[in-house]
Amino acid sequence: MARPERRTVRDLRKGNRAVLLRALYFVGPTSRHELTALTGLSAATVSNVTGDLLADNVIVEAGLVDSDGGRPRVLLRVNPVYGYAIGVDVGETHVRVELFDLDMNEKAKAEYALRPGGHEVELVVRHILAGIEAVLADSGVAPGQVLGVGVGVPGIVESGPDALIHAQTFGWDSVPLGALLREGTSLPLYVDNGAKTMGQAELWFGAGRGSRNAVIALIGSGVGASIITDGVTYRGANSSAGEWGHTKIALGGRTCRCGGRGCLEAYIGAEAILERAGLPLDTATEQAQLAELVRSGSPVIDETVEYLGAGLANLINLFNPERIVVGGWAGLTLGHHLLTKIKKAAAENCLTQPFSTASIVLGRLGPDAVALGAATLVIEEFLLSNTAAPAREAAAL
Ligand SMILES: [Zn+2]
Repeated sequence: MARPERRTVRDLRKGNRAVLLRALYFVGPTSRHELTALTGLSAATVSNVTGDLLADNVIVEAGLVDSDGGRPRVLLRVNPVYGYAIGVDVGETHVRVELFDLDMNEKAKAEYALRPGGHEVELVVRHILAGIEAVLADSGVAPGQVLGVGVGVPGIVESGPDALIHAQTFGWDSVPLGALLREGTSLPLYVDNGAKTMGQAELWFGAGRGSRNAVIALIGSGVGASIITDGVTYRGANSSAGEWGHTKIALGGRTCRCGGRGCLEAYIGAEAILERAGLPLDTATEQAQLAELVRSGSPVIDETVEYLGAGLANLINLFNPERIVVGGWAGLTLGHHLLTKIKKAAAENCLTQPFSTASIVLGRLGPDAVALGAATLVIEEFLLSNTAAPAREAAAL
């Protein structure tokens, strides 16, 4: 039988450090007094650990706030320039690389167009590495100040040192993207599915903020979902959970890009909508084409709303989320004009009780937040492990 793990003093300090850093990151400027109430840690622990964090420059003082009759209290916050995070969006039509400070202010950006069907692995790797060089040069940030590079890609990402990617729509079958990138950069790498990274961005900074159980439903050319259960992204056994676009909505229905039939994506994915309307496919004009279909009240759009409503109802019946955030460029185009109809269609296909406790809202970060989302992978690791800690703690013990 496995022995219960013994928590050492160092584990405990590291755990307290992560709890306080997380609170400061998500709540913003906070006094030590408030931190005690927020985290349940003792005043002495808050004082010791914030002292360590200040000494390491991970957090900084951020002014004073009045306390009731007593001495003004010092506000603390995460130091926005303690380090930087790079986020990469590998999309259907572009590779976009952005560099952020810890407040997620964009400091530099590089973008490379991909032609339709032009997703050769070597080309994408070359663009990502060139983008990292470019944002470092433009921002003047030294590589040593970068906490890591997060990469959001389409398809299924197997967690592991190689970050194996299975993206059928890109023609990528077991592509070891992590290993390929490591040949060109020594920065820490975090690779995940783009829908999951954007889901995390909406959860942390956008329409999902404050919810513990949410689904972020993303509709662009592809259709995917990020499922958040108790504040954490649900991944499943091999990280493929959330392939909402390939759940079946019509038995033996339209052929999907995955090769299957009757998938939700084959009805509500942007290209599928245009195809069903008999329009030619052109990535340069598809956003305008979809907007025009919505504006003109096309029957294809009415039908799309029905399929989307059924798809959302399936999510609500399966996961009982308190909130569904609809995002992605096509999702936002549909949602901005048709949210009431989409909700009605969802209600008609959903069990009454879970529907009544779920709200359906639109994403707030816009359609281009994949790179920001990818950068949250770096921040997540920073909040968990916070690199400056171990050496100091080892010295202190
Ligand atoms: Zn499919």
